[in-house]
Amino acid sequence: MVLEGVKLNLENMLAAKDNAVTGLTKGIEFLFKQNKVDYIKGTASFVSANKISVDLLDGGKGEVDSKNFVIATGSEVTPFPGGGIPIDETQIVSSTGALSLQRVPEKMVVIGGGIIGLEMGSVWSRLGAEVTVVEFLGGIGGAGIDEEVAKQFQRLLTKQGLKFKLNTKVLSAEKKDGKVILKAEAAKGGKEESLEADVVLVAIGRRPYVEGLNIAAAGVELDNRGRIIIDDQFNTSTKNIKCIGDVTFGPMLAHKAEEEGIAAVEYIKTGHGHVNYNAIPSVVYTHPEVSWVGKTEQELKAEGVKYNVGKFLFTANSRAKTNLDSDGFVKIIAEKETDKVLGVHIIGPNAGEMIGEGVLAIEYGASAEDIARTSHAHPTLSEAFKEAAMAAYSKAIHM
Ligand code: NAD
Repeated sequence: MVLEGVKLNLENMLAAKDNAVTGLTKGIEFLFKQNKVDYIKGTASFVSANKISVDLLDGGKGEVDSKNFVIATGSEVTPFPGGGIPIDETQIVSSTGALSLQRVPEKMVVIGGGIIGLEMGSVWSRLGAEVTVVEFLGGIGGAGIDEEVAKQFQRLLTKQGLKFKLNTKVLSAEKKDGKVILKAEAAKGGKEESLEADVVLVAIGRRPYVEGLNIAAAGVELDNRGRIIIDDQFNTSTKNIKCIGDVTFGPMLAHKAEEEGIAAVEYIKTGHGHVNYNAIPSVVYTHPEVSWVGKTEQELKAEGVKYNVGKFLFTANSRAKTNLDSDGFVKIIAEKETDKVLGVHIIGPNAGEMIGEGVLAIEYGASAEDIARTSHAHPTLSEAFKEAAMAAYSKAIHM
């Protein structure tokens, strides 16, 4: 069957996005009510270690005294160094503006080939923009991605029409006659080149956000990268104030903050809490998706750990073949001596869902053989996971 006359309705698409976001945030407000959590809408600022004042959104001021506080103020977009590229959220945008562009740009330049750059860049590319990603490093995908996956990821996105300029550093961007003119040079220095764009996305990272919080009044300290310093029980330098999420150490991921939030509250209530940082998954929501948990090959090599690798291509998976969506692979890394799963790396359809199985394997200390001897339904994409485990400890059946 050939579908004809398929057209983008960007307005409807953005309205559906706004609807989803509003619904989900309203859902949280409902949960607050249900669980008797008071929600004070306003901007907080420490007065002392036991008191905050709040500038209320509806006007006026409030105060809250408490025995314990948990800081979870998150992060903000890292501005371009030296203020050279001012974000206006319409033509030079951060991820915030990139989620609400009112037209598909003809040419889009993305500064930074990390998670945000690739997710947002590939969305607008799929909607018709000509997208060029400029990345300072020699590979895409940001910190923690397995190099073999990163290479395959770049190949697949290139096949979809994205262009990449690696080992290249953007120096400046200037608006001129309705366009943006960017200057870039080789990361190691060299000849300058110019790039022209209708819209520029700045995605060079995020930084901890504590503006206006007056943490000094509470004795809470920052490290030299602006992160709130905590110990292994989420205590800041002031004992009754804990801190979790993007504003402190570790990957800036909502589900990491969620684990920390629960552990921090458990410490307050019971004196015990736990987060296994080796079992926090990463997912890039592109198509195909990319996901991983645990160690990469390059990390294990650097640590001198001996390992086996089992890989299974989605081209040999029945469900992926039937769905005509078979780019990518599952890769399982297991310790050579014990067969314990040390890392799982997936690029392919539904990688973000499938990584849950890898997280469980690492959390429970599973061996590749444990997974290989566990029944996986046929025909499903997750059979590729089982086969990769088979390949890590012995041999895959279908490849
Ligand atoms: P990032 O750190 O993942 O990537 C930024 C990239 O920009 C790096 O690869 C860096 O080398 C490059 N860069 C920096 N300066 C440059 C320059 N002048 N020229 C060219 N390249 C340059 O940051 P991000 O993609 O902005 O994401 C921010 C944070 O948000 C990350 O911690 C990410 O994990 C998180 N996040 C996660 C998800 C997800 O889990 N799906 C989604 C959105 C954001």
